[in-house]
Amino acid sequence: MARLTLIHHFCRNPDHQKPARDPMDDPSANPVTLNGKEWAFCPAGAKRDHQWDRIDGLTLDELRERLRTAHRI
Ligand SMILES: [Zn+2]
Repeated sequence: MARLTLIHHFCRNPDHQKPARDPMDDPSANPVTLNGKEWAFCPAGAKRDHQWDRIDGLTLDELRERLRTAHRI
């Protein structure tokens, strides 16, 4: 995806708020996915059972920075 692509959905499923403990456990896990035609972010990189919440468009860098500093979106 392009670096400035905006992410418009964030997964609020309580079971999806932590990244996979070890990426080696599931190398296919990817936090960025498509929700319809728009980009979405699930911290766990889960494949299903998302609870998408619409957010203001954030780039992946902005979103990661916000998670790192504020631990919330
Ligand atoms: Zn999810």
